[in-house]
Amino acid sequence: MITFSTEQAEFRRSVTRFVDAEVVPQADALDERGEFPRELVKKLGAQGWLALRYPEAYGGADADMVTYCLFAEELARGSLSVAAAAAMQSLMGTRFVYKYGSETLRAKYLVPALRGDLIATFALTEPNAGSDVANITTRADRRGDGWVLRGTKTWVTSAPVADVLTVAAKTGGGRGLGNIALFLLDRASMRGITLGKSIEKMAVRASVTGEIVLEDVEVPEAHCLGGEAGGVEKIGEILAEIRVMTAALSVGLARAAYEAALAYSRQRVAFGKPIGEHQAIGFKLADMLTALQAATLMTYQTAARLDAGRPIAREAAMAKLFASETAVRITDDAARIFASYGLAMEYPVQRYFRDARFLLPGGGTSEILRLVISRELDWDRWSAFA
Ligand SMILES: Cc1cc2nc3c(=O)[nH]c(=O)nc-3n(C[C@H](O)[C@H](O)[C@H](O)COP(=O)(O)OP(=O)(O)OC[C@H]3O[C@@H](n4cnc5c(N)ncnc54)[C@H](O)[C@@H]3O)c2cc1C
Repeated sequence: MITFSTEQAEFRRSVTRFVDAEVVPQADALDERGEFPRELVKKLGAQGWLALRYPEAYGGADADMVTYCLFAEELARGSLSVAAAAAMQSLMGTRFVYKYGSETLRAKYLVPALRGDLIATFALTEPNAGSDVANITTRADRRGDGWVLRGTKTWVTSAPVADVLTVAAKTGGGRGLGNIALFLLDRASMRGITLGKSIEKMAVRASVTGEIVLEDVEVPEAHCLGGEAGGVEKIGEILAEIRVMTAALSVGLARAAYEAALAYSRQRVAFGKPIGEHQAIGFKLADMLTALQAATLMTYQTAARLDAGRPIAREAAMAKLFASETAVRITDDAARIFASYGLAMEYPVQRYFRDARFLLPGGGTSEILRLVISRELDWDRWSAFA
């Protein structure tokens, strides 16, 4: 059973109120324009919510993973685009400068990013390397006291608006995971960072995405975060967190779609009664609610395990796999219940249906997650009840 503490429940109510007042009313318009929600990111920063997982010294709340998931879920219920932008800002885009950066770098980049004043992102993926991280070809070579970076990153969240980027690059030759390092790049002060093509998407359109081209970018030694190797291990340290957070995003989106479908099934009449009273639709809603319940339980159980310091690599992969696939199914079912109106731009159901696709590759594709889970198949190793 999941029970939230009084503080967690109160926090959720605050985020719910904010999302209903500030996010829901503009979610469709932001999506239609494909516009980065800069003002909303600032407001989330002003609330202190982008800094939830960081210490108070940096404006944070030292919040647990359950609380962070409540934030991600509620935000995704209003707009998955806004939630995706906030997730980048509050986790992948800022975690490495916090963990491995000097106090000078933290003051200059981390604190403003957590306030929403600087846009931060994380760039690992390349045109020829997505799941296969060992295949990245972006190079970091020593020059004088620092480094020079060359390469192309793609599918970078917030790329067109990003001020500061954590970039993965190889410090040695050949394939392999051992020689990857993380570098903090400042778009304003470092020459050679240009925006490649901007990627037009059908999902999370307001979480803008693009390519970043690095041409002989000179990077000081202090911006090499945590040494010239071990980048993959550093990413691995937050992978479970990324997956559990993505599961929470999936639950939020699925809940929005379920609630919209339920309301519509009560109001839309066919053959003399609300469509929800036709057994086929009632059963569909029953399956949707059952799957939503299971995804929610898995997500928060895994978040609680993380908070308890227990091993969760397999559980995080299972939660993300199940919750994201559930969101895809529930948003599809919701669109079916709306029938023709599921295609109409005047209802958000078409947005939910499109946005759900983002959840599949983010944090590892379903195939990669099954690989992770299949390496740990013993039931009694990490029992669900342990
Ligand atoms: C909206 C959006 C935002 C993103 N933001 C960022 C970002 O900010 N920073 C960043 O670095 N990346 C980002 N990504 C990229 C994302 O992390 C990658 O797309 C993801 O890692 C998958 O890589 P790929 O698309 O190149 O697919 P590929 O790795 O080429 O996979 C293609 C297919 O092959 C399958 N496959 C691959 N390897 C195996 C295997 N060993 N066994 C079985 N099947 C396999 C995959 O599951 C998939 O079905 C973003 C992606 C999206 C859609």
